[in-house]
Amino acid sequence: MNILILGGGGREHALAWATMQNPKCDKLIVAPGNAGIALIAECAALDIEDGGVVAEFANENAIDLVIVGPEAPLAAGVSDRLREAGFLVFGPSKAAAQLEASKAFTKAICDAAGAPTAAYGHFSDAEAAKAHVRAQGVPIVVKADGLAAGKGVIIAQTVDEACSAIDDMFGGAFGGAGAEVVIEEFMQGEEASFFVLVDGETVLPIGTAQDHKRVGDGDTGPNTGGMGAYSPAPIMDDEVTRKALDEIVKPTMAEMARRGMPYQGVLYVGLMILDGQPRLVEYNVRFGDPECQVLMMRLGAQAFDLIHACADGRLAGCSVNWADDHAMTVVLAAQGYPGSYEKGTVIGGLDGLPEDSSHQMFHAGTAERDGAVVATGGRVLNATARGATLQEARDRAYALAEAVDWPQGFFRRDIGWRAL
Ligand code: ATP
Repeated sequence: MNILILGGGGREHALAWATMQNPKCDKLIVAPGNAGIALIAECAALDIEDGGVVAEFANENAIDLVIVGPEAPLAAGVSDRLREAGFLVFGPSKAAAQLEASKAFTKAICDAAGAPTAAYGHFSDAEAAKAHVRAQGVPIVVKADGLAAGKGVIIAQTVDEACSAIDDMFGGAFGGAGAEVVIEEFMQGEEASFFVLVDGETVLPIGTAQDHKRVGDGDTGPNTGGMGAYSPAPIMDDEVTRKALDEIVKPTMAEMARRGMPYQGVLYVGLMILDGQPRLVEYNVRFGDPECQVLMMRLGAQAFDLIHACADGRLAGCSVNWADDHAMTVVLAAQGYPGSYEKGTVIGGLDGLPEDSSHQMFHAGTAERDGAVVATGGRVLNATARGATLQEARDRAYALAEAVDWPQGFFRRDIGWRAL
């Protein structure tokens, strides 16, 4: 098969790596890709948020399956355009991608499906939102309705803090994403991410993970896109997993189908778990980054068979061949991230790293310049490893991270602390 992956981060490098292991893959193109992806696949510069451009490219390159990595092309309707043009696509329609693009939409679906989630109010007027905060008390969570790259969520400890977040959002701090505001009950508990594939009807779990959002050791400092992750998440035992599927995922997927927008692709289920009871924090309509890296490390080549079956509506006949293993990824980021950081710094030590079915250095913000690998983004590399225990996976991932020679980079030293 000829396969096109859209995206250029660590998530897409991991997807490309798993795809390349699979004998079904004859040709793999990744748009735009990065320096690490370029070592295993062809990279193409393409406007991946323009469905017409992607469809034309797929046609010219006789592509059999398009795998959409990030949310922006999904929210822009790229999968609809590709399906109209007759391509097999892994990724939800624009309508179904509202599960990530609109928090109010997701809340309404959960209400209709009876799925446990935080109590909430939905406002398009600042005064009404503030009155709701005063009536509910604190702590309380204030969210911009639309996509705000993880920055549109304020957990307010005081009424003043909540009111100024409301003013910021209606004042345009998050552009169009803040034209409407959702105010939620603050949920206590431990967070975990649960990943399922959905082909419109069948739901197939493919793994669990926990990530570290804060930039500093001990979960301190500002939020980031994610500084590391591990899989499986110990808190997701069989009973919590069963409840998450039966009470949350399956009813919401059935509600989506009932509304004429069946979901097809990977669904990232963000959960808050308290006393064995999961509640939904959020849905994302794509793999998490860096959670995808640990899932791909564990699934290997079968990940592509599952993705293909999902795109083709054949999940009912599929199962996952689980190994009793653990994986961890440690993110190497540019000093200064998530604030401002230097670009173009040279990264050494990448040649000769052990890279096999238990060790992979997935690239995120990298490019090749005059024969050297340089950093082009905030999150730059993902040292990823697998082992029989989480401790073994951790030791291998950190040995990989330590082997990189990049004075302008840093990484957290405590990924997995909660589980270890
Ligand atoms: P991202 O996709 O980057 O995770 P987002 O903008 O979609 O962010 P949410 O996932 O809804 O936002 O919230 C971000 C984080 O805030 C959650 O991972 C969770 O830690 C916390 N959070 C959100 N809602 C609640 C809630 N009701 N109670 C407690 N914590 C919450």
